[in-house]
Amino acid sequence: MKDKEWIGVDLDGTLAQKHPDGWQGISHIGEPIPLMVDRVKKWLAEGKTVKILTARFAEPDLKTREQVVFFIRQWCVTYIGQRLEVTCSKDMHMTELWDDRARQVETGTGRVAELGNEDPDPPHADDFHHYEEPYIKIDFQEGPVKEVGVNGCQNEDVIRLLMHRMVRLQEAFQCVENEQAILCLSGALNALESRTKKRVEQGVEGENKPHVS
Ligand SMILES: [Mg+2]
Repeated sequence: MKDKEWIGVDLDGTLAQKHPDGWQGISHIGEPIPLMVDRVKKWLAEGKTVKILTARFAEPDLKTREQVVFFIRQWCVTYIGQRLEVTCSKDMHMTELWDDRARQVETGTGRVAELGNEDPDPPHADDFHHYEEPYIKIDFQEGPVKEVGVNGCQNEDVIRLLMHRMVRLQEAFQCVENEQAILCLSGALNALESRTKKRVEQGVEGENKPHVS
């Protein structure tokens, strides 16, 4: 039975932003909502089946329904990277329904199950070199530069980027906290630069070897 299980995910307001002016017709599907799209991509990568469960599919005219599915699949290919089945019906194999309008009740009691903002799948970076979370994508150097060449950025690059942002912010809206943040980032950068200097002096920079502090 397990191979038939699927997770239902609503489209409008759950996977895709709703248009502020309401319904725009079947060809309009809003911008993707990154946290939800990433969750779906993760399930698919784990081999789970995900179906788009949307009222858009509850369209009595067959021709129009085919068009509805066409637009949804096109959206899925663009933002999720593959076509997903589209339905408007639950069945006994649906294990979860993710929907912006649903209220969850406890099985068999009718009591409201308030889950708050708990996320059963918080984004985590278990890969040491590639970080991809909603709105963040970083490829760090993987392997010693001397052996594999440059294939990513260094910690220092990220700190410099943050410093650049903070300095710009401080120019516009000065405050003591910004100043402290800039000083701390600058301290971190100094420490890493002095580390690199020592590694160069000791002939281990760009290699998978420790240095003496
Ligand atoms: Mg919805």
